[in-house]
Amino acid sequence: MNTEQIKQTVEEHVLHTYNRFPVAFVRGEGMYLYDAEGKQYLDFAAGIAVHALGHAHPVFTEAVKKQVGTLIHTSNLYYHDQLAAASEKLAKAAEMDKVFFTNSGTEAIEGAIKAARKYAWLKDKKNDHEIIAMHNSFHGRSMGALSVTGNDHYQEPFRPLIGGIRFADFNDLESVKAQVNDRTCAIIIETVQGEGGIYPADPDFLKGLRQICDEKDILLILDEIQCGMGRTGYMFACQKYGVKPDIMTVAKAIGCGIPVGAFLLNKKTAENSLVPGDHGTTYGGNPLACCAVSTVLDIFEKEKIVEHVAETAPYLEKKLDELAGDVSWISGRRGAGFMQGLVVTGRPVGEVINAALEKGLLVISAGSDVLRLVPPLIADRPEIDKLCEILRAV
Ligand SMILES: *Cc1c(COP(=O)(O)O)cnc(C)c1O
Repeated sequence: MNTEQIKQTVEEHVLHTYNRFPVAFVRGEGMYLYDAEGKQYLDFAAGIAVHALGHAHPVFTEAVKKQVGTLIHTSNLYYHDQLAAASEKLAKAAEMDKVFFTNSGTEAIEGAIKAARKYAWLKDKKNDHEIIAMHNSFHGRSMGALSVTGNDHYQEPFRPLIGGIRFADFNDLESVKAQVNDRTCAIIIETVQGEGGIYPADPDFLKGLRQICDEKDILLILDEIQCGMGRTGYMFACQKYGVKPDIMTVAKAIGCGIPVGAFLLNKKTAENSLVPGDHGTTYGGNPLACCAVSTVLDIFEKEKIVEHVAETAPYLEKKLDELAGDVSWISGRRGAGFMQGLVVTGRPVGEVINAALEKGLLVISAGSDVLRLVPPLIADRPEIDKLCEILRAV
């Protein structure tokens, strides 16, 4: 099928919830994707911050292939070897005590919300507990995750959402304090806001939240689904701040394309929240997903992926700052590591993305006016140079 045929067939049968770009991919390799006509695209989107290792990484591909022919699924009624490997490695990397595997990011958030409510319920057996979330946040599309997503446009048609959610302003500690009361059971934030427009948490804000949570026995939930797994030059973004969450959510890059997420709990939370009967999943943490996680973590270590990001990010930032200085339609840059946003002014960001696509570069947006750069973590100086060259030309 050529691009036009693929596009028409998809539009005929797939529910129209996405305005897709007019391109159809059939193959990927490293930093590049190829469309149905064989045109090559430099990938600075990574399937929305998923492909940390680039497309078709040979070691990853081999491991997953082998697992498919060995054991894909058992249910959670049994132990399996891949669950042992993945849980041990992920908990260690995240410096957390216990893991629950899910199939997506939004499910990880659902689990985090349930764990927080259970923790509070065990203390006073009341059903009035509240969670404080941030304006401009994004935590997913299922009802619980949507309820803590501070975006009216996403929420409005789907009300009533789950109750007991209050919103505060990101990076404004006083606004959070104003929402805290005796019923507060958790505060949830993205360590670096992604969809909202690439806003890293201020160190004082994050440390302040930790302090409030410690003082009042409130759980701090850090959503590292997008900013985690090496993207900021640390394995998890919160490690850069020296702040530990009570619950952490991860997804996107941990499976590098095999659908998997997880929520992780520290010891205190794990021992005082969910028990058998409280939560479950048929697929979550199946041998295929766990093999992906375990292999991704092995490759991260072997190929020093996090070190590479930390080492290369200053070059990316320098190049983007130069670009922002030279090009009239970019008014600023913000971000951390390989999670960067360019603020686009004076022209629609969609126009820039379409022009880049024409020239064989994949970039995406965040918020209303931000060009988001979340490349595979294997991106190096030549790809960064090419990125800037193409953006200059659009
Ligand atoms: C993508 C994302 C989610 C939702 O993950 P899905 O796998 O799409 O359900 C949640 N939180 C953040 C920060 C995200 O970037």
